[in-house]
Amino acid sequence: MHGLMQDQPLLISQLIDFAERHNGSTEIVSRRVEGDLHRYTWAECAQRARRVARALDAHGLDPGDRVATLAWNGYRHLELYYGVSGAGRVLHTLNPRLHADEVTWIVNHADDRVLCFDPTFLPLVQAIHVRCPTVERWVALCDGSHVPADSGIPGLVSYEDWMAAPGLDYAWPRFDEHTASSLCYTSGTTGHPKGVLYSHRSTVLHAYGAVQPDMMGLSSRDSVLPVVPMFHVNAWGLPYAGAMVGCKLVFPGPALDGRSLHGLIESEQVTFAAGVPTVWQMLLDHVQSVGGKFATLRRTVIGGAACPPAMLRAFEQQHDVRVLHGWGMTEMSPLGTICSLKKQHDALPVDERLHILEKQGRAVHGVEIKVVGEDGQDLPWDGRSAGELLVRGPWIARDYFRSTADGPLVDGWFPTGDVAHIDEDGYLQITDRSKDLIKSGGEWISSIEIEHIAMAHPAVGMAACIGIRHPKWDERPVVAVVLRPGAQLTPRELLDFYRDKQLARWQMPDDVVFVDAIPLGATGKMLKTRLREQLKDHRWTT
Ligand code: AMP
Repeated sequence: MHGLMQDQPLLISQLIDFAERHNGSTEIVSRRVEGDLHRYTWAECAQRARRVARALDAHGLDPGDRVATLAWNGYRHLELYYGVSGAGRVLHTLNPRLHADEVTWIVNHADDRVLCFDPTFLPLVQAIHVRCPTVERWVALCDGSHVPADSGIPGLVSYEDWMAAPGLDYAWPRFDEHTASSLCYTSGTTGHPKGVLYSHRSTVLHAYGAVQPDMMGLSSRDSVLPVVPMFHVNAWGLPYAGAMVGCKLVFPGPALDGRSLHGLIESEQVTFAAGVPTVWQMLLDHVQSVGGKFATLRRTVIGGAACPPAMLRAFEQQHDVRVLHGWGMTEMSPLGTICSLKKQHDALPVDERLHILEKQGRAVHGVEIKVVGEDGQDLPWDGRSAGELLVRGPWIARDYFRSTADGPLVDGWFPTGDVAHIDEDGYLQITDRSKDLIKSGGEWISSIEIEHIAMAHPAVGMAACIGIRHPKWDERPVVAVVLRPGAQLTPRELLDFYRDKQLARWQMPDDVVFVDAIPLGATGKMLKTRLREQLKDHRWTT
């Protein structure tokens, strides 16, 4: 039809082209496995990404073939993000914290042909390589002098040698924007992990959504620290959003302890950081213990699990850092909502504003949200009616990679397995997960609220609430608590702390158990299933 717009495909290679041309001198700083800090620019990153693409051509990889990574957040990983996807192959980020058997299963399921790994993960690669027959090339993410000797891995080559081949410069291919670009597996509630396959179109659209002012609000002036791993939903899309706006990127490599992160934030004048609550708690504990400050940090996205209100308050009130509480899923690329205030909230007292910021926030344009009751009917946006949360949009999975089962969609909507309510202003609040609610006497109890209250007690370092079988009530909530070093607390004292905390009596936990550690999953989230298993023989003391 005449008079319409150009039909240009949305491709990941255009992001790196843009960064090179418009913000080519902006820095990318990475802490390496070797321990030093590596610095270069978007322009150098773009050049090296094209060399990666040439190496893939030289290897004879077909369009759509998978190249896997077992890698920390760093510049070489970033080059693979662009080189692999830009060249029409699929970047498959593997989670190195999974068990070797699970990694093997995933590599075989994905038919990965090349696997690039940080030398840290050599023992894992040694454990899996004979069981991964589809992998033709193992690449160590280092230079030739750091390739582990006697690794036992046939044909092991250093990344620098692998991509060093001389040759002409490279022009990114153009193809359909619906072409697959990257792959990330997520754990199933039962059975094997499930692969989520992103496309060029979904990735670029997601980046447009993420950088919006009411979302991550990124600009070329920012110095951005993605602590969330690049193997977990593409570090929440920050490598792509970063190229789109041309900001400085700072990668922490393997050093994720509070001291290292704080040092990096200060030395690289980080203005924006993103991570899960467990890692941020370590950062806050460190900063508190040394009486430290954040000189440049202004915003942080906290997501992947609910941000405890005590953490929000510590960032906001002690450190003057705006918390952007975010919610999303691997299946959603991952951004669904981020919490930021509207103009009308400016006049509210501080406490009320903070209370709003505790919510998961408002949907990004591009993601439609709704909550439905047990009958599947839409629930009103009244800030009270909680039900299953469903989502729809161009960066949300339709199906799982190579799945033979029925797709997950319900009338075109993706069921999140989260339970939430939405208020009149569109603020979403996750109240629990459908798989993780506690049902007592036929009524639901939110484990998240119970945890938040425990976390607000000064003696509590970490808390996890689970439902435990109860002879009378079916299930009752028990809170497992890790005390802060040197702190003392009795179960009775903590249970008393629950009084006058906006919980009905029957919603308060019945018991407290002190544990040395809460089991955490590969991405730092609490493993409630493991905890339930640990506490299954719990004897009621109350
Ligand atoms: P994943 O696919 O591993 O990123 O996990 C997604 C799930 O993590 C969501 O379905 C939620 O259950 C949970 N989640 C993510 N962000 C939040 C948040 N801000 N608050 C509560 N739960 C969250």
